[in-house]
Amino acid sequence: MNAGGFSPTVKQCRAPAASNFGGRRGNQQARRLEHRGVDVIEWRRFEAVVEALFQQAGFETRSQSHGADGGVDIWLHSKTVPDQAVSVVQCKHWQGKRVGVDKIRELRGVMAAHGVKRGQFATTSTFTPDAVAFARENGINLLDVDGLLALIATRTAEQQQALLDVALEGDYWRPTCVNCGVKLVERLAKGGGKRFWGCTGFPKCRTTMVVRAEGGSG
Ligand SMILES: [Zn+2]
Repeated sequence: MNAGGFSPTVKQCRAPAASNFGGRRGNQQARRLEHRGVDVIEWRRFEAVVEALFQQAGFETRSQSHGADGGVDIWLHSKTVPDQAVSVVQCKHWQGKRVGVDKIRELRGVMAAHGVKRGQFATTSTFTPDAVAFARENGINLLDVDGLLALIATRTAEQQQALLDVALEGDYWRPTCVNCGVKLVERLAKGGGKRFWGCTGFPKCRTTMVVRAEGGSG
């Protein structure tokens, strides 16, 4: 049941100290999301940050919960014509693997099916050259991790703080089940094996994700 875009290859970090990447509350230093910040938050939280980012840009957003097909994540609507989506946003919280043209083609397919001319693709990773070329030809705006952080940096201090709050509130590191939408729990493989994230819906839901040791390469 892991046919979604967020496959078990997406790795997650254990709870890191928020002060390592977000600055401390009450500190003089500006608090903002940095590379490490977008890296350690779980995939669903990453989507929430991207959604908040587009809300700040004046869109009404409707996020779509993930079914087994891992469909489009966020629909953008203009406030003047709320019934018509003006753009769709796909998010991939990937680490160490570039987003290829196949994923951009999938988004293009969804745009065509819904008569939406613009698309956005946001990732914590980067894009392959093929993906960049295809996106350019098809009205799709790509936001890789540097692009996202640059966009966030253009926002007011209050807006950046709001995004940081979305990112880091609660157990931001604990991944969400792609099938059920519930938080996964840490399990230990039988026979003294590795830790992994498992779904509380087991055995009905067999979603698992890799637990990445903090600071490790996974
Ligand atoms: Zn599940």
